[in-house]
Amino acid sequence: MYKHVFGPVPSRRLGVSLGVDLVEAKTCNLNCIYCECGGNSKTYSERGSYVNVDEVKEELKSALKKIKPDYITFSGSGEPTLNSDIGTLIRWVKENTDSKVAVITNSTLLHFDEVVEDILEADVIMPSLDAISEEVFIQINRPHPSLKSEDILKGLVKLSEKFKGKILLEVFIVEGVNDTPQELKLFAEFLKRLGIEAIQLNTLARPGAVDWIVPATFKRLNEIKKYFESFGVLGVEIIKKYKSRDQIEKYSPEGEKLILNMLSKRPYALEELCEMVGEKKEELYKYLEILEKESKIEFVYMEGSFFLKKL
Ligand code: SF4
Repeated sequence: MYKHVFGPVPSRRLGVSLGVDLVEAKTCNLNCIYCECGGNSKTYSERGSYVNVDEVKEELKSALKKIKPDYITFSGSGEPTLNSDIGTLIRWVKENTDSKVAVITNSTLLHFDEVVEDILEADVIMPSLDAISEEVFIQINRPHPSLKSEDILKGLVKLSEKFKGKILLEVFIVEGVNDTPQELKLFAEFLKRLGIEAIQLNTLARPGAVDWIVPATFKRLNEIKKYFESFGVLGVEIIKKYKSRDQIEKYSPEGEKLILNMLSKRPYALEELCEMVGEKKEELYKYLEILEKESKIEFVYMEGSFFLKKL
């Protein structure tokens, strides 16, 4: 059990991901209404050395003796770019390990040159954007007073111009808050201008920081996806977790049966299972999420990769 390093976590996009939390719990400059870590009593605005860098390096060295992750992911229970040592750590990972680096950020500090410079060596950056107008930004993200929506937009443009790796931008939809016709139009215009080719629409999967928000439906997310596409926004994808089989497009009972049947014989590595079922990883996940939620299968980390095991 480590203080800063967690996982490995199976991830659709990143494969085997080893997480690194670079701040203490809920050290964030936002206080999003949907935050799964709960509400924070204060927001932070200053970058600083929130954790001991040598301690993080030691934990990573120790974890990497047992785990061979595809990605080391800087994320966790607060905003990782608030840590001014993130650049040093990304460079250390690149120089000392074979893993690729992913950074999950709330995008609030990307208008600062030094923050973008710090994360340029990552392979994947997953920024989020929940509002375009200042009014909705305040409503959904409840930011530190020093932050402005306009700066986030500038920061994302700066990142898209400078970063050579892959950007997966997440837009978290809270029905009735950031999906009004006016806000969606502003989103579509900005996303089209930004030109990032992977936009992920997400919504609540677990209770947020306030009790009145409910997850957006698939129908609503799909309408938003179609609306963005009608503006010429590319690569829009819904990443909401499935709750039931009937919400999933082309869910095949035979496919599910085949997976369970195979796993009843022995555990299979994810890649192996994909090959045998003849489905891509993204397609397979639609079955695995349901079966894992119903405790019919589990992900087990063995011999450097995730295996699926029938329970
Ligand atoms: S940015 Fe992330 S950690 Fe910070 S409040 Fe929002 S959801 Fe929570």
